[in-house]
Amino acid sequence: TTAGQDVEKWVKGVCRYCGVGCGVLVGVSKGKITTVKGDPDNPVNKGRLCVKGILLPKIMDTKDRLLHPLVKKNGQFVKVTWEEALELIAGKFREAIDQYGPDSVGYYGSGQNIAEEAYVANKLFKGAIGTNNIDGNPRTCMASAVAGYVSTFGKDEPMGTYADIEQADVFFIIGANMAEAHPVLYSSLVDRKNANPNVKIIVADPRRTRTADVADMLLQFIPGTDLALLNSMANVIIEEELTDRTFIDNHTTFLQGEKKLTFAEFKTFLADYTPDRTAGVTGLSAEQIREAARLFADRNRNAMSLWTMGLNQRIRGTWANNLVHNLHLLTGKICRPGNTPFSLTGQPSACGSIREVGALSHLLPAHRVVANPKHREEIAGIWGVDPQKMSPKPGYHTIEMFRAAASGALKVLWVVCTNPGQSIPNLTPYREGMEKTFMIVSEAYHPTRTSELADVVLPAALWMEKEGVYGNGERRTQHIAKAIEPPGEARPDVWALIEVAKRLGFGNLFPYRSNEEIWEEYRKCTVGTKMDLPAYDRLRKEHGLTWPLPDPGGPETSIRYAAPYDPFVKEGIQFYGRPDGRAVIFARPHSGPQEIPDDEYPFYLSTGRVLEHWHTGTMTMNVPELKRAMPEMYAELNPEDAEKIGVKDGEPVKIISRRGECMLKAKLNGRGQPRPGMVYVPFHDTEIARMINFVTIDAFDDASKQPEYKICAVKLVKA
Ligand code: SF4
Repeated sequence: TTAGQDVEKWVKGVCRYCGVGCGVLVGVSKGKITTVKGDPDNPVNKGRLCVKGILLPKIMDTKDRLLHPLVKKNGQFVKVTWEEALELIAGKFREAIDQYGPDSVGYYGSGQNIAEEAYVANKLFKGAIGTNNIDGNPRTCMASAVAGYVSTFGKDEPMGTYADIEQADVFFIIGANMAEAHPVLYSSLVDRKNANPNVKIIVADPRRTRTADVADMLLQFIPGTDLALLNSMANVIIEEELTDRTFIDNHTTFLQGEKKLTFAEFKTFLADYTPDRTAGVTGLSAEQIREAARLFADRNRNAMSLWTMGLNQRIRGTWANNLVHNLHLLTGKICRPGNTPFSLTGQPSACGSIREVGALSHLLPAHRVVANPKHREEIAGIWGVDPQKMSPKPGYHTIEMFRAAASGALKVLWVVCTNPGQSIPNLTPYREGMEKTFMIVSEAYHPTRTSELADVVLPAALWMEKEGVYGNGERRTQHIAKAIEPPGEARPDVWALIEVAKRLGFGNLFPYRSNEEIWEEYRKCTVGTKMDLPAYDRLRKEHGLTWPLPDPGGPETSIRYAAPYDPFVKEGIQFYGRPDGRAVIFARPHSGPQEIPDDEYPFYLSTGRVLEHWHTGTMTMNVPELKRAMPEMYAELNPEDAEKIGVKDGEPVKIISRRGECMLKAKLNGRGQPRPGMVYVPFHDTEIARMINFVTIDAFDDASKQPEYKICAVKLVKA
């Protein structure tokens, strides 16, 4: 924006929305945020912002901003003091823990929390209370990417960075609509293509999306056949000898389950996936698959794969991630500039605050796991708690957490900075569970679809009303300065967590006087893990740094596992997360979704995002320009299907699954088009009747525990 003539000061921050993590400069005047502009010195966005980012000031003073704590009494929310709310919360925690044990309480956080909040919550629940019942919404968007990286490379998070986009010659985008979900990164991709006409883009997606507008090749495969497609591309790469055998011999190992395979055995495994055979499964032509594989493996091109929820939100999401990694490992297109598999992140700090802090039910800080006694001991030492008190058993993951609330096993649940009452798949039983358990919700806005079910709602300080650290999708840790005071009695979530900790008798574990002190304690957890994070004072000055940074004053790391980029590797490439230093090429068979269409429910349903809105709309539906641009969500149909069921553009259509239903207006020939036999619905709508998660399925990947939002079977009825 060019606005801001009357700005008193500009404050450095990071966009509040997606995982791209664009740098912003926030203009403040008379104690209010009046304008935002892209930070030209931030390497992520170089001054660019998308329409959501540029309108960020409008999320601050909305009419539903919560200004004081509320407690539900006789079915009505009444205003209370912080003291009253905190005493009530601490009392409920104490009562449940005394009567039913520590596993009767839980915490559900967010990839929108700053790292310090997630760290304190993790320490309070896992270290002080002694339960691993702490999970968060990154489970529903990133868990399969985590499990994919960990199983293939031994360590989580990408080896490359966004800078690879500027050097890649072929992009393989599968299950990601970057044009709408990661718009600024998409503009880097378009720049790259415009600058070099030889750059090729392959888009693989059952729906023709806006991203496909720049594609040279669109692979519109049948939903749920991604594993067959990826194996078939690997088959072509091997059969046509497009592999890099030296790289394979030096840096990889083949596994089928626990069993080691030879290259020849792996080749035999892939024999079932010739393009001629998989064409029928995927709905693509054999020639399309061959061409995509050849383009990807072209020795004269650098290759970068980009993916997100389309692969992750599947019951075989982990395997799908493994199979993308396979393509890079077979061709040696990895750990060199412009050559990398790269999972995109949904939230601004899903990596920084959840994956790195370890705020999921099986993790501990710096990619450690609760099941490992050495890891528990190391963290207990830093936290100053008894390692015997830390449970080795992973706590409830997301679906289990809300199942436990529904069954009555979970007595108290604290939800912070997220809206599961709208975002959990198969909502009906879980909303009932949220109502049943004693639920505390920390929120900037009220009511939301979760806070309306709560017993206590705590007013949260919002973006730029508190200091903190976000970690984006390329391992970039960025500091956000506090620009203004929170309104009313709103307080940072970290303050509320520490106040409850004190009332539970754990005050001595949380003596922090500043966010910097919390960060520096957390940073100790990262030393020696090859995830070494930068110091807070350096973060304040820089425009983010990509870890690891073992030398506090040294350079950031652009490419992990490879010299000369990674300070932990002396020469060549070493996948040091794995005991043998080799990455795994997995033999994973094709496996379809949990539910496929049948006579009764003949359509695939897939859900996703639109450019104008974000997650459950609590912020973007409050921005008049965004609301006007996209006032409500819709059912995007293929015109062939619309004709069959007799629905015209704009007419209401009921979407019914085995779990629930919703009613949306049909959209034909919109900004995207699904394959015939498929309906696509963005999930941002806040109206109960239009909330698609009453329809989606809560089946989940058995490795990552990530739910299969992307596919279920539905019927469509003209309403
Ligand atoms: Fe914000 Fe993402 Fe848009 Fe960048 S691309 S401005 S991080 S929403």
